Amino acid sequence: MSTAVLDLLEDSSPSKGKESAAPPEVALMQMLFAPLAAQAIHVVAKLGVADQLANGPRSINELAQETGSDASSLYRVLRALASFGVFAEKPNKVFELTPSADLLRTDVKGSLRDIAAFMGADWHWSVWGQLSYSVRTGKPAWDHVHGKAAFPYFSENKEAGRIFDDAMSSNSSLAIDALLKAYDFSQYGILVEVAGGHGRLLSAIVAATHGLKGILFDQPYVIEGAGEKLKNSPVASRIELQSGDFFVSVPRGGDAYLMKHIIHDWDDERALSILTNVKRAMNPGAKLLLVEVVITEENTADVGKFVDLEMLVSPGGKERTAQEYDELFARAGFRLTRIIPTESPYSVIEGVAS
Ligand code: SAH
Repeated sequence: MSTAVLDLLEDSSPSKGKESAAPPEVALMQMLFAPLAAQAIHVVAKLGVADQLANGPRSINELAQETGSDASSLYRVLRALASFGVFAEKPNKVFELTPSADLLRTDVKGSLRDIAAFMGADWHWSVWGQLSYSVRTGKPAWDHVHGKAAFPYFSENKEAGRIFDDAMSSNSSLAIDALLKAYDFSQYGILVEVAGGHGRLLSAIVAATHGLKGILFDQPYVIEGAGEKLKNSPVASRIELQSGDFFVSVPRGGDAYLMKHIIHDWDDERALSILTNVKRAMNPGAKLLLVEVVITEENTADVGKFVDLEMLVSPGGKERTAQEYDELFARAGFRLTRIIPTESPYSVIEGVAS
């Protein structure tokens, strides 16, 4: 979701003073048109337009040629985005980067290109077109659209799987600094990250924490990708790769078990099955560390409330409140010890075996 939409949601949040709220018809119309902006951002991200502008402004004809596009159509897309400040239009159909367009470049810190590639991909977009199916049945629209659940779909469709894994790595990158600032990992000898994708977060934690060893665990095809990504990392020798199915077992012997954006993928029964397997694998006294967006119970703007809908339509999971995490932990045999907020939307939800 674009930050413009998030700002808008905040502006129209009942918690804000009346004077800052957009008129209702403007707020609603902007929300209705926001998906068009999202798809336009997806298209230019996929084409790599921002990378083409990294060295300065370029004409629409150059951009169309470099990206294999129809100049007139690409112009209309960029003009629309520029009207919202994503790219700037100069005289003679020349475009240049703006701070938000810069984030669509590939290798800049905080790049959102991979997230844009995922959000607007046809196989994801079509799932959102079936939100009403999820609302009617309570089941994930993903399975209804694709005939199989999201994670099996990604393991069978390599290109989609790669786009998803890259988007998750970007997501994790955005949380790294805030997490390292908020949580002291130096108290542990071995940190196991369960379903850590390509290991972007774990390698950053290990790099920042003297003497810490990491075990990265995920599905076999994801760990294969992680091996490729991590082989040149300066901390590769301190990260062990293990693959498997967390509904069966997870690696034993960790002092802490980190799961970022995992429990939110699943309903309570399946979340309990993962947590039970983690508990079984833990060293005595080990910590459970979930990194999740904890939903506020207040009627205020909260990006987690929309990520929750993503969970509804795609994997069939849900975002939870602090109370719901407390109850889930208790059912799995954990005691929730602390919820540590970070400067990002994520909190660290810490627990110990009870
Ligand atoms: N923790 C990462 C990835 C989150 S996406 C991050 O925050 O960026 C969810 C992850 O769960 C994916 O990497 C997916 O491969 C993994 N996963 C899904 N089903 C799994 C299973 N049965 N066993 C192990 N990992 C699984």
